Amino acid sequence: MAAVIPVSPFGAPIDFASWQAFRDETGVAVVIDAAAAFDTICAASVPAVVSLHATKVLGIGEGGFVVATDANFIEELQKRANFGFWGSREATVRSLNGKISEYAAAVGLAALDTSPVTRAGFARVARTYREAFAGEPRIVMQPGFGECCVASTVVVAAEKPGAEALARALAANRIGSRRWCGGGLHRHAAFEQFPRHQTTHSDMLVDRVIGLPCWRELPNEDIAQICDVVASVCA
Ligand SMILES: *Cc1c(COP(=O)(O)O)cnc(C)c1O
Repeated sequence: MAAVIPVSPFGAPIDFASWQAFRDETGVAVVIDAAAAFDTICAASVPAVVSLHATKVLGIGEGGFVVATDANFIEELQKRANFGFWGSREATVRSLNGKISEYAAAVGLAALDTSPVTRAGFARVARTYREAFAGEPRIVMQPGFGECCVASTVVVAAEKPGAEALARALAANRIGSRRWCGGGLHRHAAFEQFPRHQTTHSDMLVDRVIGLPCWRELPNEDIAQICDVVASVCA
């Protein structure tokens, strides 16, 4: 049995129709890692998993949900998240206790009530970064970020001077940053033994991509300062 797991990096919108066509043509199962893509997620026949971790745009602490239009698939999932029970107290399929806690669910309902305000905050941060970097050709942001979608992270790619030099310069100005994917999944000790194809793009992204400070109340003046530091290192 095999499956493909396309990832929505940092909440970038996912092309569901193409992945559905891929699945229909090949018969290979597809599960979309839409962990950070709550903002643009839509129900499709290809299932997607969305994270509700505290660091995401809809954060409830821990947990997540699966979105899919196939009612049978959702029913199978419900069995598997609930000891395999379905209409009786007998375990009928391989399963686990994958239920969200009552407390986390209550936090989630409250977070949904305020989600327009939360989204507006992240959208303002995203737009401010985008505008500040508009005249900076060496800094590349994700397509549509802050325009058609928002996320709880701000990531940029800088071919020169690269992520490491940027991180050092930011740290020298007491500004935190993140290399979210470390040296790339294929270099993690747990995965480096696995067979793989060329990782040219991953290696390139590892060298260039860096996460900048991002939270809903981050003041525009602070964003301007951060962008000044980035621009001065790129110059
Ligand atoms: C946040 C994130 C995860 C992890 O989600 P958890 O709910 O913490 O397991 C996985 N994949 C992507 C793309 C993410 O952004």
